[in-house]
Order: sequence, then C-alpha cells, then structure tokens
Amino acid sequence: MRRPLYRDHALVLRVQRLGEADRIISLLTRRHGRVRAVAKGVRKTTSRFGGRLEPFGHVDIQCSEGSSLDTVVQVEGLALFGREFMDDYPRYTAASAIAETAERLTPVEYEPSLRLFQLTLGALGALAVAEHASTLVLDAFLLRAMATAGWAPALAECAVCGTPGPHSAFSVSAGGAVCPDCRPPGSTRPAPSTLELMVALTAGNWAIADGSEAHHRRECSGLVAAHLQWHLERGLRSLPLVDRSTGSGMGDT
Ligand SMILES: [Zn+2]
Repeated sequence: MRRPLYRDHALVLRVQRLGEADRIISLLTRRHGRVRAVAKGVRKTTSRFGGRLEPFGHVDIQCSEGSSLDTVVQVEGLALFGREFMDDYPRYTAASAIAETAERLTPVEYEPSLRLFQLTLGALGALAVAEHASTLVLDAFLLRAMATAGWAPALAECAVCGTPGPHSAFSVSAGGAVCPDCRPPGSTRPAPSTLELMVALTAGNWAIADGSEAHHRRECSGLVAAHLQWHLERGLRSLPLVDRSTGSGMGDT
C-alpha cells in the first residue's frame, strides 16, 4: 500500500544509528511538530540524501507516513548550519543542548509548535554565523523556549506575589526573582547585572547581552540551567557538556 506523503521544512535534531547503513532522524518540523523518520542507506556513498541529514541542518524534507516510524523520501538542504561549527566544541555543545531541549519540549510527536520551531531555527542560525557568544545564544534560546512551555522565570516582578521589581533574590523553586517578603530560604542573590542580562536575553536585546561581563554570563547560565532542570523531569544530558570557558568571547574561534 502506498503511504501518504507529506513535505515540510524541518530541523535535524538528532541522528541515531539503525543497523549498518540506515539512520533514525529526529526532526522538528514547521507544521508537523516533532517527527522521527528512517533514512535508508544514508551511510552509503551513493546515498541520494548526501550529507544533508546531519545534525543541526535546516532542510526541506519529504516523508512517507509509517505505522511506527516515517520514512525519508527526499531531502533538500536549505541551510546546513551544523557544517559551520562541527569542529568548534563550544558551538557544537551549545547546539546539542538546543536540539535536546527542543526534543524534550515536544514530548508528543506530530504536535506543531511553530514558535519553538522558529526559536530553534533562529538559535542554530545564530550559532552558524557566530555573531554572538555561543553561551548567550544558548541561554537566550533556553529562556524563550521555557516561555513557550509556560515556565519562563519571573524576572521583572516577584514570582510569588507579582510585586514589580527589580528584586535582588532569585529562587528556582519559587519560579524566579522574589521580593523580600516572599523570598524562601535558600534563595540566591545574583548580581543585578545578571538579572538584567536574563531580561536582555529574553527580550533579544543583544546590545546589552553582547556587552555583558563573563562572570555575569556564567551566573546567568547557572540560573537558566537550574531553572530548566527544575522543570524537566530528567536533566539534560548535553547541558553539563556546554563549554563555557570562552564566555567572554564573541565567536569562540
Ligand atoms: Zn513577593
């Protein structure tokens, strides 16, 4: 029986081995949500897919529906972002954390999330051009991706009572910045510039983000990671691997 075909723009999140020559490709598509599809013979030199199904690529893909897994029929590369940073450890690890987060935020397949697709596309594209430090690109993505899931940290107002800030205390378990009345035990007191950086990254204010200092970036990354891990059932595998040693650099080169 001939299976129904569909065509969509997609980002390659992950590639897993399936036997000698085949691969299972995890895709975040624009209109079909997250999809897993088999690419047959992708390892052969004669593969009609060429190298277009490598991680972090933006592709135009055609798949046929299957009972458990779909099958890749055709693929065209739109922007193979991964090629720009495969040998660049800081950018590669940031892209891995972005892809894993996108996968974890789409637990149900075929459930479209256009906003998450756009955020992922934007973040991988930003890593490819190396216009901003990779840790900033990652943290901006994580903050905005958490917002699509409904658990962005409160920054401008108290996470508990809503009193307008800025507030100096931050509590992951309370949901972000907290006022002096609501501050639970164990709250941290990040530098005001760190909270300003989180606000700038959420808003896409790159002038402030690019001008931030390394220790504020590190503190920001720690808070963002803690907030994310708190909300995910299991921690991200790739997040502890992110290379933050070049936090003050622009392009990690
Ligand atoms: Zn409060």
